[in-house]
Amino acid sequence: MLAEDCGHPSANFQESPHLIKSEPMMNNPLPPVDTPNDFDIYENVNYRHYWRSLSRQKLDELERSILDELLPTHGHAIVDLGCGYGRLFSQYAGRFQHVVLFDGSESLLRQAQADFKEKAFYVLGDIEHLPFRAAAFDTALLVRVFHHLNHPEEVVSAIRRLLCGNGLFIMNYSNKRNALQIIKFLFMMTRHNPFTPETLKAEANFFHHHPASITRLMAGAGFQSLVHRGAGVFDKIAPLLGPIHRFAPTGKRLAPFLGKTALAPWVFCKAELSDHIPRQTFEKNSDLLACPVCHNELSQKDAAFCCTHCALEYPIRHGIVDMRMINR
Ligand SMILES: [Zn+2]
Repeated sequence: MLAEDCGHPSANFQESPHLIKSEPMMNNPLPPVDTPNDFDIYENVNYRHYWRSLSRQKLDELERSILDELLPTHGHAIVDLGCGYGRLFSQYAGRFQHVVLFDGSESLLRQAQADFKEKAFYVLGDIEHLPFRAAAFDTALLVRVFHHLNHPEEVVSAIRRLLCGNGLFIMNYSNKRNALQIIKFLFMMTRHNPFTPETLKAEANFFHHHPASITRLMAGAGFQSLVHRGAGVFDKIAPLLGPIHRFAPTGKRLAPFLGKTALAPWVFCKAELSDHIPRQTFEKNSDLLACPVCHNELSQKDAAFCCTHCALEYPIRHGIVDMRMINR
């Protein structure tokens, strides 16, 4: 679907496919079409392969080091929203008593389950209908997901509901006002104005955001932004170095500057919930689930969870709880 057809307020920023392909910030592993269900756009995408190129190996290395720094050293429960095949699992595994891996793609979640087995709790679901109890987590991750969201305000607001007081929310977004886009705009190589606050939809399923709009969105949801880190710059160097690519820098040293100035194409943000809501206690992983429709508690019967209020059932299939809204 072309942006002109989508009805999104950023539709006027649609650029020609030729120019879009030439812009290195827009590395999109997805096919250039919208799918019927926004939450399972990564179903059957070979996402593990996507991360194997030289430049993405460097980017992966940098993102891991950023998370190493931003994540708390210990905590009670973390949910990785849009975990994919569990690329970042090793960064938080061992730091939390409960690890929940959540994704809309069953094929990716199965890959994570095959790798990490009982070390995590696996939930299949829709990012716009999160199936968790309020104040159940002290940390929520949303890495490489925000740029796919059609309704980011609603999702961030729902994430706030999952977190207890002083809970941490670590996310990253695609930054439309990065240095390369500024240069391109000043030299009239793109007609996207990087300085305007509107969200830019330049590809199907891919939105670029202005840093100021992210700050406003986070503050509006009750989050206080603490730390920013920039990524997506130095990974372009590795493929140019041929046999000595392993010596290419990741950009870790400049990540604080590129984050604070928001000049990088990808910006990580660590934010803290300013409320003082006590964390809900639970004994087993399944206790943190709630009905994604009415948010009430679930009871387990045989191979499914059943909502105690609206009676909807959510099946458990081979160790993965299917909390999707589809067909309900
Ligand atoms: Zn319900």
